[in-house]
Amino acid sequence: MKQGNIGVTTENIFPVIKKFLYSDHEIFIREIVSNAVDATQKLKTLAGKGDFKGEMGDLKVTVTLDKENKTITVSDHGIGMTADEIEKYINQIAFSGAGDFLDKYKDDANAIIGHFGLGFYSAYMVSSSVDIVTRSYQEGAQAVKWTCDGSPAYTMEETDKAERGTDIIMHIDDDCTEFLEKDKMEGLLRKYCHFLPVPVAFGKKTEWKDGKQVDTDEDNIINDVEPLWTRKPSDLKDEDYKAFYRHLFPMADEPLFWIHLNVDYPFNLTGILYFPKIKNNIELQRNKIQLYCNQVFVTDAVEGIVPEFLTLLHGVIDSPDIPLNVSRSYLQSDANVKKISSYITKKVSDKLAGIFKNDRKEFENKWDDIKVFIHYGLLTETDYYDKAKTYFLLKDTEGKYYTLEEYNTLVKENQTSKDGNVVYLYANDPESQYTYIQAARDKGYNVLLMDGQLDTPLVGMLEQKLEKTTITRVDADTIDRLIPKANEERQPLDEERSMKLSTIFNSVMPRTGKTEFHVETQPLGADQMPVMITQSEYMRRMKEMSRLQPGMNFYGEMPDMYTLVLNTDAPLIQNVLNDSESKTSDALKPIEAEIKGLSARQAVLRQEQDKKKPEEITQEEKDDLKQCGENIQAEKKKKDDILAGYAKDNTLVNQLVDLALLQNGMLKGEALTRFVKRSLEMI
Ligand code: ADP
Repeated sequence: MKQGNIGVTTENIFPVIKKFLYSDHEIFIREIVSNAVDATQKLKTLAGKGDFKGEMGDLKVTVTLDKENKTITVSDHGIGMTADEIEKYINQIAFSGAGDFLDKYKDDANAIIGHFGLGFYSAYMVSSSVDIVTRSYQEGAQAVKWTCDGSPAYTMEETDKAERGTDIIMHIDDDCTEFLEKDKMEGLLRKYCHFLPVPVAFGKKTEWKDGKQVDTDEDNIINDVEPLWTRKPSDLKDEDYKAFYRHLFPMADEPLFWIHLNVDYPFNLTGILYFPKIKNNIELQRNKIQLYCNQVFVTDAVEGIVPEFLTLLHGVIDSPDIPLNVSRSYLQSDANVKKISSYITKKVSDKLAGIFKNDRKEFENKWDDIKVFIHYGLLTETDYYDKAKTYFLLKDTEGKYYTLEEYNTLVKENQTSKDGNVVYLYANDPESQYTYIQAARDKGYNVLLMDGQLDTPLVGMLEQKLEKTTITRVDADTIDRLIPKANEERQPLDEERSMKLSTIFNSVMPRTGKTEFHVETQPLGADQMPVMITQSEYMRRMKEMSRLQPGMNFYGEMPDMYTLVLNTDAPLIQNVLNDSESKTSDALKPIEAEIKGLSARQAVLRQEQDKKKPEEITQEEKDDLKQCGENIQAEKKKKDDILAGYAKDNTLVNQLVDLALLQNGMLKGEALTRFVKRSLEMI
């Protein structure tokens, strides 16, 4: 029997492993099983080269639980180890500066394990003691048993072992007995070992017999040794890809399409990425890309390896070249990882461009489902726009699709304003914006449909990219002002009358605090609606952005601001104008005369005071001017009250306002009831 100390510089590494790696300790099974798989693969390689001439036999790896003796055993029929090899590979673990390193990476078990080739030692995260019983493939090799109870001291002795290969026997700690549970272990094996290239058996398949589940003779193989991504795309049919997707994500809808990645220079990467059918919430769909390293599951958190916007895709990526066992921050600055990330973006983009080119109809059919990925890509990857601009589509409210170039050609002529900007119009809710869309169509304008969850920021982004183009919602203003043309100057109402008219309508607008109305008059043409409500594109967009981006609360908390536009060319508005003038002029005349007088006096006082230096103006003079201003305000208030008095019970004014509100879905509750009643009285 041989005794010795394992070559670590840290006094006692095992408590350290256990303590620091606690959170992730289930990965021990991945490490031990993949070592067994490696040993098996090595044997196959040797046999292939003719260096191993014996019987290969059954090469599966077996995982066995023994609840009674509290052991987990992983057995293989791989190359095994001689005593010398144990000495070299197990005892002499290189471990320089261990303390420092453990401190630095204490939260990241993968980093520690990978960095030091500690794979085997991860068994100590769950074991109080581990035995290795092994016999090398070499002819006449002596089997050996190595035991180490978690202190640096180990023992190694000769033993009997009939079969070639290695048994790793882990004596499970009392606080880790959960790993002795069949369901728990099966779950872990399926998670980490699902696609290992050598069959892994865990117990027997079961069947129902006499109302009980009983074992059959057949091994319960938990893995698929030749997963789809390792196979040649030319050998695979659509159905294979769909079946594999169902296998990976049993609960998901059928994918839209997929991309088989396969590259071996300048790095090695294979995989399949699926475009899933996304329902509503993008957030919920993340972490659906599994990362493998030579078919060993590593993680499903792929941020940093896959570009952010493609983390919404589903599937698998397998690469031995991604430095998996390092910390995340290191990963993001790794040159290889950067290359991989841009390679994936390019592949995905090429695929989209390919479908667009070869089958535009098909691409259009899928557009509504895939646009969220593309929008997200455009918003998060600075150079994606240049790739995507050829196949990025705009959809109009009639369901037609256009590329950016096609759309520009379509609307350029008709929708260029007098200052030379091409104005794209869009609706996000065609039902409720029906009148506005109709008004635009009457002018021969096209209206886009922008109802996606990322359309608000996208509109801003497109405006920056497209030259001399503004994009505005169709209800942001009256149609003539959305796309102002030089030849359409109509005669506006004079200021005094316009103010009176606005005051009349303003006095009956709803006041809730959550919405604010500003009333203005515009000559829109006799054939247009008498009243309409618009919402400034700028304010609305700011508010929408504030919902998406924290830190823009300022806009979020502001009330929704709308404009009630009175069309002074419309006969109904002119009726109000004429009627109100004849009914209020008697009452207003003396007040207006008073205001005129006061204003004249105010002007004179101001002029006098302007001539003097500030210190020469007496208190009396100052008071005089102030008083004059206050008197004017008081008279104006009287005037407003008279106009409001006129409006208060005026059927026409109230009816017009309510109709405008109704058309925008803003007439509710008591106001709606009042409107219905008034309408009935009118019939
Ligand atoms: P790594 O696998 O990263 O080299 P490990 O600590 O997991 O580090 O293993 C150290 C070495 O021990 C392996 O490289 C291999 O040579 C040997 N080894 C571990 N497990 C087995 C096994 N089941 N059969 C044969 N050799 C093994």
